[in-house]
Amino acid sequence: LAVTSERVLAGLDPEQRAAVTAPAGPVCILAGAGTGKTRAVTSRIAHRTLSGEISPRHVLAVTFTARAAAEMRHRLTLLGAQGVQARTFHAAALRQVRYFAPRLLDGRAMPELLDSKVRLVTLAAAKVGLRTDRAAARDLAGEIEWAKSSLVEPAEYVIEATKALRDTPHDPTRVAEVFAAYERLKRSGGVIDFEDMLRAAVWGIEEHRDVAEQVRAQYRHFVVDEYQDVNPLQQRLLEAWLGGRDDVTVVGDASQTIYSFTGATSSYLVDFPRRYRGATVVRLVRDYRSTPQVVGLANAVISQARGAEARLRLELVGQRPAGPEPDLRIFTDEPAEAAAVAARCRALVDAGTPAREIAVLFRTNAQSEAYEKALTEARVPYVVQGAERFFERAEVRQAMVALRAATRSIPGETPLPTAVAEALTAVGWAPDAAPAGGAARERWEALSALVQLAEEYAATPEVLPIGPAASVERPVTLADFNDELARRATAQHVPTVDGVTLASLHSAKGLEWDAVFLVGLSEGTLPTTYAKTVEQVEEERRLLYVGITRAREWLWLSYSVARSPGGRARRPSRFLPQLDRSGGTERAGAAAPGRRPERRRTQIVSCRICGATLLAGPDRKLGRCPTCPSDIDEELHERLRDWRARVAGAQRVPAYVV
Ligand code: ATP
Ligand code: MG
Repeated sequence: LAVTSERVLAGLDPEQRAAVTAPAGPVCILAGAGTGKTRAVTSRIAHRTLSGEISPRHVLAVTFTARAAAEMRHRLTLLGAQGVQARTFHAAALRQVRYFAPRLLDGRAMPELLDSKVRLVTLAAAKVGLRTDRAAARDLAGEIEWAKSSLVEPAEYVIEATKALRDTPHDPTRVAEVFAAYERLKRSGGVIDFEDMLRAAVWGIEEHRDVAEQVRAQYRHFVVDEYQDVNPLQQRLLEAWLGGRDDVTVVGDASQTIYSFTGATSSYLVDFPRRYRGATVVRLVRDYRSTPQVVGLANAVISQARGAEARLRLELVGQRPAGPEPDLRIFTDEPAEAAAVAARCRALVDAGTPAREIAVLFRTNAQSEAYEKALTEARVPYVVQGAERFFERAEVRQAMVALRAATRSIPGETPLPTAVAEALTAVGWAPDAAPAGGAARERWEALSALVQLAEEYAATPEVLPIGPAASVERPVTLADFNDELARRATAQHVPTVDGVTLASLHSAKGLEWDAVFLVGLSEGTLPTTYAKTVEQVEEERRLLYVGITRAREWLWLSYSVARSPGGRARRPSRFLPQLDRSGGTERAGAAAPGRRPERRRTQIVSCRICGATLLAGPDRKLGRCPTCPSDIDEELHERLRDWRARVAGAQRVPAYVV
């Protein structure tokens, strides 16, 4: 059946329809996870383009991660809205800057894009006499990213960081010095970073009337998904694109703001109806994604949130039939946790769940390794998303250098995948020379993934973003591909294969899977030890909410007592007792996490609260049970135990060292 604008409306609920059919002008959809915000906004675009009200080539839809943008394009295609550009802020800005660069730079080539700040920040720190290891340089790079995304210049940094109560990696004056030195190094090296690129897009429009006219003639209708994570620099770009017009639809959930450490703020979402007078505001509450059990857990987590977003919070109402109970598992150590997750993935795949419908989500990328190993051992295919690891691999970095060098030597008509394959011969790759196994095989596979990526990239029709030739498709070039790689290295997005997704919670937003494993739920990991202020802990809670709400059907929560076998005991995440779906209340005065428990000569006893097997001292005096936070009262202990009994079924009771 042909897709018509009327058919787009079928299958939407009344509130979604109201959003889809709202008249031209500002529209704001405020709603929780899984309520169909992305569906509503893609349907709005399809409805307007199919009815002939607007032309697809005048629409710009933006979001924050490459995978979310790909998901939007996919949904738009299914809805019959071909030719709409759905991109990340970065990708949209990059195309604009590339297009206008020859004009604005008097024919000079666009400066090369840094794919990571860390190396240059290390040099900048050394210049101002600060010695840094990789972790310290990463923290400084993060701080510079925050400043630049918040439109803060080096000279303003100290005041603004203080006002924003930043937990700065060094004395703010030192950070400002590194920031200034970094900017100088960048200029003298003729390179730019990603914030510079966004700034160049803004500057191009704000300072050049002809550029502004051309861009605004091209882009007339705007959509921003995940608007709760917009930062001031991106907002300024959006306003530059709009140029005082107001045909903009924003969609967001303040409870899913998870990028405030890099300058994102839900205040633009919250204030949208005030800034855009006459805006149509739509709220959605029906959750179409997850089983009522998963929805219940999500509500329990977020009902205890504090802070600004609480004003906008709406309880989700599950629409799907009941599903399996979520599972809470506790393990002695991380390898045991990873092995159990891998075994469960294996069982799901064997029972017919496609591997691509399963995700293992964690707080930090460093957690990925144990799962990679366990999945490999269990022979479950996987793809690491949200990991710098792919782009940190030595061969991938060498390949990126070789690809850049190749742009200097290949004008011609060579198709992109061929050009990439040819360039990779410089780093010893050949298409049909796959080594049998081991590190050589991994290396070959990583390089092959780049060729595969080039094939996918070349297959997506690239429409020139701007200008009279806007609807003309042109083949993508090696230079485009190199920029795409640099962008992905920053956005931490790796090529997809059919496998279990291993992803950080940050990179999982907007996405959904049949089965989700939320692993490593211990104090110090989620919430991370770096979360010290109430606001930072609240952001960790929102991350947990984002994680839980990715699951359609199966949800498994787990944590391990020690990182490695026999290692130091860690406490369960303070959020776990709050997951009680009957709505447990948070207790004040949670004990400081990570206190080293006293070691005793051990004997086996059971925890009188939760029944876990414990190894206790010779006097049978029970130490702290890592399963049960001991600073909560009996009643909450009881509820925790009930909850675990309900969800855990016949779980293996692990032994602990206390
Ligand atoms: P998130 O906050 O995580 O980005 P979202 O609000 O954007 O979530 P969607 O991804 O649009 O939610 O929708 C969640 C799931 O529910 C999708 O699988 C979508 O197809 C489905 N869905 C949305 N609306 C409806 C509806 N009216 N009827 C049936 N299914 C729906
Ligand atoms: Mg969405």
